[in-house]
Amino acid sequence: MARTRLVAGNWKMHGSRASNRALLDAILAGMGNAGAQCAVCPPFVYLQQVAERLRGTPVAWGAQNVSEHAQGAYTGEVSAAMLADFGCRYVIVGHSERRHLFGETDAQAGAKFAAARAAGLTPILCVGETLGEREAGRTEEIVARQLAAVEFAGGVLAYEPVWAIGTGRNATPEQAQAVHAFLRLRVPPDTPILYGGSVKAQNAAAIFAMPDVDGGLIGGASLVAAEFLTILRAAGAKGS
Ligand code: PEP
Repeated sequence: MARTRLVAGNWKMHGSRASNRALLDAILAGMGNAGAQCAVCPPFVYLQQVAERLRGTPVAWGAQNVSEHAQGAYTGEVSAAMLADFGCRYVIVGHSERRHLFGETDAQAGAKFAAARAAGLTPILCVGETLGEREAGRTEEIVARQLAAVEFAGGVLAYEPVWAIGTGRNATPEQAQAVHAFLRLRVPPDTPILYGGSVKAQNAAAIFAMPDVDGGLIGGASLVAAEFLTILRAAGAKGS
């Protein structure tokens, strides 16, 4: 059975009520039969707005983070059950910005993944090496370690080399394929494995053409409807 192809937009800490509305309107107007699944992950405060706009449409939505705790005195945190409460489908777990800027550990990513699954959400687990780790030949060791901290089932995996995120320097299709093939052997066979890191309209088709790349997790380019739609179509066109 063919694996799900997915393009998910990580809006990071961008947006406003007005710009979100305009972006979603443009995506919905332009997507047609994209041939791949599509999701957007806005900041927490806009989830309700996005959920309402996307109700009854083919575009799913998700959160960018989730607490590993079920409830309690965790000021500023949002639980998986709260997200599930109003229809959230995906949640990004272990994004490199969470790991590097906010000190999230492999174990926390594992706990967040489990919390998301327990609430019926589909976690998108991010793994990836820094430039220093790649140059030291440690890419496989790092992604294997990050993955080993997670009881991986029922999720989406995203290979996101840290040196490619927001830098304009994407992995080559061959670099992405090599790591995806390595990861493919370590997750259930139906797991979609997305590539993330400076995917743009102009490089998406070549990256998505690789046999083990099932779509993308898109940061900056997901904020521009025309770019995002071209990337979505590139994922949809794969193998067709
Ligand atoms: C990301 O934040 O997950 C990402 C891939 O960002 P960008 O596409 O901007 O590199």
